[in-house]
This record gives sequence, C-alpha cells and structure tokens, in this order.
Amino acid sequence: SLISGLYIATGLAVLSSVFFLLTSLDRAARVDKAKRVDIAMKLETRYLQGLLIEYAQWDEAYENIIVDTNESWIQKNSGQYLINEHGFDFSLALKANRQLTYLSTSDDIESLEFEQLMSGGLSDLVNASLEHDNGEGATTAYVLAGQDIYLVALSPFRAEGSGEIRPDSYLSLGKRLDADYIKEIQSSYELPGLHLASTAEDSVNDKALLNASNQTIGRLAWSLERPSLLIAPRVIAIVVPFFCLALFLTQYFLKRDHADRLAFEERLYEEATLDALTNISNRRHFMTLGEKEMTFEKRKGGMLVVAMFDIDHFKLINDTYGHAVGDKALVHVTQICSNELRESDIFGRIGGDEFAILLRETPTEKAIEVADRIREKIESSPIKVDKNIIFVTVSIGLASMDEHTTFDSLLKLADIALYKVKKSGRNQVYAET
Ligand code: GH3
Ligand code: MG
Repeated sequence: SLISGLYIATGLAVLSSVFFLLTSLDRAARVDKAKRVDIAMKLETRYLQGLLIEYAQWDEAYENIIVDTNESWIQKNSGQYLINEHGFDFSLALKANRQLTYLSTSDDIESLEFEQLMSGGLSDLVNASLEHDNGEGATTAYVLAGQDIYLVALSPFRAEGSGEIRPDSYLSLGKRLDADYIKEIQSSYELPGLHLASTAEDSVNDKALLNASNQTIGRLAWSLERPSLLIAPRVIAIVVPFFCLALFLTQYFLKRDHADRLAFEERLYEEATLDALTNISNRRHFMTLGEKEMTFEKRKGGMLVVAMFDIDHFKLINDTYGHAVGDKALVHVTQICSNELRESDIFGRIGGDEFAILLRETPTEKAIEVADRIREKIESSPIKVDKNIIFVTVSIGLASMDEHTTFDSLLKLADIALYKVKKSGRNQVYAET
C-alpha cells in the first residue's frame, strides 16, 4: 500500500504538471494569437500607408488631381487602378476646405457617400493628420461609414523633391473590413476564427478598432487556440497506460516477492519446529508448546497428561534390517499414533526412538486408555518390508500435572514411568503418580 500510495502521489504530481504545462501552453497561445492579430493589422496598415505616400508625393498626381482635376487621369491612375490592382475599396482626394475632388469606390460597394465618410471619422483623420504630421507619414484610423468599418489612411500631398506639404490637399485610401478581406487576413496570417464583433467577447481575444478620436467603433475578435485539447488526449494516451502497466508490474513483482518470502519463512519455521524424518514437532518445539500449554492449564485449573513412549528394542531393528528400515519403523509408529490422537493433542519426537504426547483436558484414567489403545494398535500393526514382517512394540510412561509441577518435572516423571515399564518387561503402559 505504501508503493500504491507513492504511485498515486507520483501520478497526481505528473497529472498536475501536465495540467500546468497545458494551461501554460494555452495561455501562451492566447497571448501569441493576440500578438499575431496585432502584427497582421499593422502590416495591412503599413501596406496601405506605403502606397498612399507614394501617390501623395508624386507631383504628376498632384497636378492632375488637385490643380487640373483631370478626370480621365484620376480614373486611370489613383482611382480604379489602386482599387483594382491593390484591392482597396475607395480612393479620394480633398482640396480647399476639405472639398471632395473625387471619390472612387470598388464595384462591390453599393453606396458610399462622401458625407458618410466625413462624419464617420475621415474629418477627424484630417485634423489628426494636421496635428501629428511628422513630415512623411500617412495617418490611419478605422472609419465607420454606414454599417461598414474601413481601414483608412490619409496623407497630405507633398512636393516630390522637398517633401514639403502642399496646403489644403489630401489623398486618402480605404479598405473595407468585409468578409472577403477578413478571410484574406485569416489565410495570409494564419489566424483562423478571426471575425468582426460589435461588442467585446473577451478581454484577451479581441482588439478594439479605434477611430481618429480614439473611440471604439468595432472589434476584431478571434477564436481562442487551445493546443491543450490537441495534446492532452495524446499525453493521456501515453501516460495512463504506461502508468497502469508500471503499477501492475510493480504490484505483480511485489506480490510474487511477498509470496516467495512467506513461503521461505514458512519453510524456515517448519525446519526450526518440525522433525525432518517424521514431520511432527521436534524436541525444542514440543517443549515450547508444552510450557505454554502448562501455563494456560494452570491458570484455568485444567488437566494435562504427558505420555512418553519409546520403541522397544529398536536397536535390534536397526541392527537386523538396517538403518533405513529403522527410519521406516519410526515413521510407521508416528503415523499410527497421529491417527489415534485428537487434533488438540500435541505430539513430538523428543529423542531417537522416543516420543511424547501432551493430552489436553484428559483425566489420567482416560489418558491411560488412550495410551493403551496406541500401544495395542502399534503392537498389532507390523511393518512389511520386502518379505519381512517386523513387529514393533512400545513402552509408555504417563504423568499428570498438579499445580506445583513444571513442564520439565512433568516430563521427568513420565520418563521415570517409562523407565519402570522398560524394567518390568516392556510393551505396557504405566502411570506415575
Ligand atoms: P529399549 O527397549 O531399552 O528402548 O531398547 P532400544 O534398543 O530401543 O534402546 P534405545 O532406545 O536406547 O535405542 C535407541 C536407538 O535408536 C539407538 C539409535 O541407534 C537408534 N536411533 C536413534 N535415532 C535414530 C534414527 O533417526 N533412525 C534410526 N534408524 N535409528 C535411530
Ligand atoms: Mg528404545
């Protein structure tokens, strides 16, 4: 669970880093797009200004437009030429007291009145031009004429050589911010979602269009770019399976490791507590269990009987049939005895051919009965090895606890009883009192 916790914490850290990264990307994309819109409109304005300045500093234009009012020249040069070749929507000139000299409009503009332009901001643009003229530039602003917004540049005519301003005469070019133009900007500057909006949509994703008096007459808005929406599914598609796999593998190896360790510990425990030949408790474990049991029985005032038994003339079996057969006899006796005992009895091998049984909650008489049944069973169950039938008998000595006995002295008493049986002829049960 510690590992799982660590994984969850790491997962959360990774996810929040990814989240932070993606939101930062989105934020950067927002700022970037706002900048690109700004640059796009600046470049469009420069282009408009550049052409306008070229015409306004051309003496031939001044002569034909202002001095001579040469209609055909105007039409061919500053009129339809600029509109058709450069995609502007209107071209006009003013002279003496802002009187209109000519106004040419593109074909797709149905009606654009001079008065509309003047009241929509062109007049202010003339004033601004007078105030801010720096000797070479053209003044620009957005103008609202009727329903349409125009990007408009205006410049005074200047003398071709000296650049000196010619009094009271201006040239102006305008481009309507219509659907076609917006589409053109969208594709030229890669600004998908750019559109005109009448009201503010968001503080970051729009730009106010200002007239010459710095009033907002409309807005350019654009859809927000969300690179995170593109990246997040991919990041998730990579990170999540990888994480799950790592988690799964870690858990798998940890579990396997844990199972291996448990099995190893169990084997160690068995090796430390069981007798290798007979697979019952060894002497040390039998003593531990016995002492524990004794303490428990004393506390609750119960009964405990120890039966100690030893195979009769076991040496003879070893000597006659060999050690391996002796081992078989030991296992055989153990099995018979285990079958006769209850689950709650404690059975151990405490020496070579010496065994001990701890009978719980068993009165002495009952214990003697059990011991005798075991003795009889062993006596009547000879071992068959090859063609030999080997009879095995055991001598059993019993001792019962009282409140003063220790487990050690209880075993000694049982040992004394066993010794007595051996003395008096073997294959018997005797209880020491
Ligand atoms: P008694 O009736 O007086 O008990 O006679 P005994 O021959 O059984 O004498 P004792 O109990 O002293 O002999 C124990 C013998 O058990 C001695 C030893 O060689 C043999 N023995 C001890 N451990 C093992 C064992 O693990 N395998 C085998 N095959 N023999 C063992
Ligand atoms: Mg013996």
